[in-house]
Amino acid sequence: MHRVRHFSTGMTGLSKNLFVDIKLPTGKSIQQPIGLYINGEWVTSEKMIETICPYTETPITSVYAATEKEVDQAVKAARNAFKAWKKVPGEERAKMLFKLARLTEEHVDELASIEAIDTGKPKDFNAKADVDGTAALMEHCGGWADKIVGSAIPVSHNKFAYTIKEPLGVVGLIVPWNYPLSMAAWKIAPALAAGNCIVIKSAENTPLSLLKYATLIEKAGFPPGVVNIVSGYGAECGNAISSHPNIDKVSFTGSTGVGQVVQQAASNNLKVVTLECGGKSPLIVFEDADLEQAAKWASFGVMYNSGQNCTANSRLYVHEKVYDEFILIYKATILADYPMGDPFDADSRLGPVISKIQFDKVSAYIEKGKQEGATLVLGNESVPSPGYWIAPTVFADCNESMTVVKEEIFGPVVTISKFLSQEEVLEKANNSDYGLAAMVFTKDIARAHQCASELEAGSVYINSSNDEDIRVPFGGYKMSGVGRELGQEGIDIYTQTKSIHVNLGVKM
Ligand code: NAD
Ligand code: MN
Repeated sequence: MHRVRHFSTGMTGLSKNLFVDIKLPTGKSIQQPIGLYINGEWVTSEKMIETICPYTETPITSVYAATEKEVDQAVKAARNAFKAWKKVPGEERAKMLFKLARLTEEHVDELASIEAIDTGKPKDFNAKADVDGTAALMEHCGGWADKIVGSAIPVSHNKFAYTIKEPLGVVGLIVPWNYPLSMAAWKIAPALAAGNCIVIKSAENTPLSLLKYATLIEKAGFPPGVVNIVSGYGAECGNAISSHPNIDKVSFTGSTGVGQVVQQAASNNLKVVTLECGGKSPLIVFEDADLEQAAKWASFGVMYNSGQNCTANSRLYVHEKVYDEFILIYKATILADYPMGDPFDADSRLGPVISKIQFDKVSAYIEKGKQEGATLVLGNESVPSPGYWIAPTVFADCNESMTVVKEEIFGPVVTISKFLSQEEVLEKANNSDYGLAAMVFTKDIARAHQCASELEAGSVYINSSNDEDIRVPFGGYKMSGVGRELGQEGIDIYTQTKSIHVNLGVKM
């Protein structure tokens, strides 16, 4: 038990500098690009980033890191490609996105394996779902590509106006490490559907899946320069993107603090900004709720992906009448449904957290919770070794003044507080600078919709948690973000409206 399987790497004979072979725990080898993908070519830079496997604590490989210079090359390539790309009809873009969806499906196992070693997420339970979702989103956005339309506006009998939705031009995309490929897809798919060219940066912890994906993007037929993929550090490469004068829009997913920095940097040329930032989502269990189901969803919503979810339901509020019973069911559910283990075991449900830094950060929050007097009802399970494992942690008897209730932890850690009335619990639920998601469990439909209306969050889940759908807009209230991804709004944020006024005979 609790032994994890390793992998090994070596240079391939093909191209000594820009591809390495990664031998997976399954015995298969994967050819992994490590260069920067600019203008349809793999190039190097002066710097490298070493990426660590969170469950072996050893380096997987190093990738080339873009500095300002390479970001500028990527922007030039994108700007140049846009001249022809903007004339490619939507139905052609659709075909490429559909082809990319098929290619993604064909490479699910390979991409999921890369994601599993780079992030530590369980391959079958978790990483595969990310890749499946990526294929689905390419398909979905392919469907939009030829349906991005404006409107005709009757002005008067001898004048009319119409609008067209045009791409913005070159968009800069910055993504985090919790869903490296999937978060990239949330931005790449709609940006391409709407006809933009892209410069995208992965997170420094998790560059591999997106680099591998570049090979599929190329196979799908996107011309050189339309999609440029760079690895790089936030302060250098990320900042070069958000402040670049020749990028028209920046879309960022990550922490609220960095989101603020990005928004500020983006102001130099008035970039359109979309931000998906942090959260501390409340989950309310009323006394009439189906407690078994509430416990299932509340476990999924904070244990899946080791709690590294921006919408994690990390603050539970349970009615006093069912408080003790719920805690018993909840503990048992987590233990039964989220066993830790080798990410390459099909039975594993909970991986390590992403890095030593996150491990230390989450561990410090757990210590803080104990110091502040929360009751630790779950958290002493033995963890595998090596690796950045955090055992599922549940604090009960929490209150609004505790740090663990206020701050985003981004690990498999959840707080439970007791409440007496709907009014009281709504006030507590809204007592946060964040507003990404909120969850309500009740059988009373009036109460469910009253709560949905009162909760200050971009998404409210009634009797579920974290079951996003690519057709439904997603984003934050308050300091959880700006703008909405997914659904039609997720396409719109990659377009700008042009209004055309047509004079049919009005004389000056
Ligand atoms: P982070 O904000 O440090 O990093 C996110 C990305 O921004 C990375 O690619 C990073 O390299 C880049 N970056 C860092 N500094 C930058 C700068 N000065 N300029 C431009 N780019 C910069 O976040 P993290 O610590 O890696 O990830 C955890 C956080 O991300 C959590 O707080 C979580 O809530 C948030 N997150 C939010 C969502 C969402 O959809 N709202 C999704 C995933 C993660
Ligand atoms: Mn990694």
